Amino acid sequence: MIVMKFGGNSLATSEKILRCIGLVRREIDRRPIVVVSACGKTTNNLLLAAHAALRGEVGIEPIEGFHRGLMEDLGLGFELLEPLMEDLSALLMGVSLTRELTSRTRDLMMSFGERISTRIVAAAMTKEGIEALAVNAFEIGLVTTAEHGCATPLPEAEEKIAESLGGIAKLPVVTGFLGVDCKGTITTLGRNGSDYSATIIAAAVDASEVQIWTDVNGVMTCDPSLDDSAASLSLLSFEEASELAYYGAQVLHQNTLVPTMRKGIPVRVLNTNNPADSGTLIVSTPEVTTRIAKSVVYKEDVCLINLTSPRLTSAVELLSSSLDILRAAGVGIHMATTSEATVSLVTTGGYDHEALGAALEDLEGIARVEAEPGKAIICVVGEELKGKAGVLGKIFGAVSSRGIKAKMVSQSASEINVAFLVDNVELKSAVRALHEIVLA
Ligand code: ASP
Ligand code: MG
Repeated sequence: MIVMKFGGNSLATSEKILRCIGLVRREIDRRPIVVVSACGKTTNNLLLAAHAALRGEVGIEPIEGFHRGLMEDLGLGFELLEPLMEDLSALLMGVSLTRELTSRTRDLMMSFGERISTRIVAAAMTKEGIEALAVNAFEIGLVTTAEHGCATPLPEAEEKIAESLGGIAKLPVVTGFLGVDCKGTITTLGRNGSDYSATIIAAAVDASEVQIWTDVNGVMTCDPSLDDSAASLSLLSFEEASELAYYGAQVLHQNTLVPTMRKGIPVRVLNTNNPADSGTLIVSTPEVTTRIAKSVVYKEDVCLINLTSPRLTSAVELLSSSLDILRAAGVGIHMATTSEATVSLVTTGGYDHEALGAALEDLEGIARVEAEPGKAIICVVGEELKGKAGVLGKIFGAVSSRGIKAKMVSQSASEINVAFLVDNVELKSAVRALHEIVLA
């Protein structure tokens, strides 16, 4: 059994959907389970519609129009989607009446994207002669925590999923991104979460491989929009790929490799626009190349928070109370360093300013706070970094040769990553300098 996951861009037109179905057909003997994202930009459009409803404007165009077009081009009747469209309209009406969009309602709103796409893909597959069934992950046991917007699966999820999928004779086309909490409320696994859904399902059924079909040739040495000499990486270890996903490689959701790493299930990142390319294979055993590292990634628009205790609180106590405050506010942390009585934290800065603002106020109750937004994390990743003398010198030499000073340097105990902070405006130049020495 294998799991094949198709992203939104790969399902954005009827031709692309048919291309994906062709890829599934090629693998039919390996008993694929298909996991899909919402078609095209539907998740973003659902969020736009939700925000319009908050202002009192209710409308499901362009969502309805886009899907109607897909169905027409695929020769499928729109009746299949009508009940979902009606429910979506009713939900938007509810938001406009209450003028309230809780994280719970936001998850329910976003769930329509994948619930629609599974129906389209399963119907198109069946029409093409592959008997398929649209399956809602939240109805087959993908039980999660109740953390709306960033839920994670509960330990019992895998057994439930395996049992439910075992009872389905047709080819299952499962909703990515979605789960359900113990009260039966729909949750989401975070933006881009369909990758994670695919690996959760793969671990549940002990799949022999996961294929993540996207629109680039796998994981790259650098963001190609910053440096067009970026090349795709043919082989990565789970640890390397996890670090890359965590520090910003857009191609994989940050938790994607957790389930497959545990079970040693290989993951392939492939390109629907170029299926002949072998993409990136992610496996347990690391490969050490002759380069100094494998890839440079970055996370833009983060916020550096420096905390100094006014009293004689130790850095450990300060760290622990500040983490509690940030967790309660729902603000994520990407890096942390401490000295005797100061703590420096790097948090997600651009995503949710409101939450960060509230957290900063609370932090002022326990320490002197200096917040510096507009920073970027740069991270160099590769097994090669392990124990090689002089590599750090090369990395920081490359950055300082461009007149850039790296701040808050950190290297995890696994030694396969080196991360540091620069200003947003220095980001491109620093990434290019590093990519140059990575490719050298
Ligand atoms: N549709 C969701 C998103 O846009 C999940 C995914 O595509 O993986 O974030
Ligand atoms: Mg994706």
